[in-house]
Amino acid sequence: MNIEENLARVQKRVSDAARRAGRNPADVQLVAVTKTIPVEVIKEALDLGVRHLGENRVQEFLYKQPAFGADIKWHFIGHLQSNKVRKIIDKVSLIHSLDRWSLARTISRVAGETGISVRALIQVNVSGETTKHGLSPVEAEDFARAAMDLPGLQICGLMTIAPLSKDPEEIRYVFRQTKELARQIKNSIPEIKMDLLSMGMTGDFEVALEEGANLIRLGTALFGRRN
Ligand SMILES: *Cc1c(COP(=O)(O)O)cnc(C)c1O
Repeated sequence: MNIEENLARVQKRVSDAARRAGRNPADVQLVAVTKTIPVEVIKEALDLGVRHLGENRVQEFLYKQPAFGADIKWHFIGHLQSNKVRKIIDKVSLIHSLDRWSLARTISRVAGETGISVRALIQVNVSGETTKHGLSPVEAEDFARAAMDLPGLQICGLMTIAPLSKDPEEIRYVFRQTKELARQIKNSIPEIKMDLLSMGMTGDFEVALEEGANLIRLGTALFGRRN
């Protein structure tokens, strides 16, 4: 595995997909998903210019984060238990996985106590798979409107995870509906920020990009298969 080659290949695929969609590749932020990847290996990616890192488990994040400087933007991308919010809230740049009202309230409360403002994406479960977290698309707008009243919590957009699929065309609708949902929410709540669309992983990021993703979360494409 050669991270430099992997990154170059990813960047080429990102710009090709962006061009196909008439988009500027510079508008797409790559989040390197570092779960299970050792610190030394992650540092190779940093040497190549990667600055946005994503982790999905609180324990692992807290273990790794002190090894990195303040120039790193950490993205929390996994299901977050309310009793762990306090541990990560001032160390992450964006929480992608705001998936329930109790978590929104907890983030708001702890943000207030900590004196910070926390950026988050509402996770939507478009496919309806029961194994996936996230609000159903019909709940998302009311949730977003209510979240606007929670101090210390700043909604910035939506995140989704598509079903595993051999053929990314089969799941294009997931990304298209997420983008459309963001547009509807922005339409009905003009004061909300709906700029970020976190969608696309190693198996489906090109389709996600064609459908408007501007944050892509890539692990395997950069670091190889996880054990
Ligand atoms: C692990 C993970 C990813 C990255 O998955 P790859 O298929 O390895 O690119 C992206 N998003 C979330 C939420 C993850 O847990």
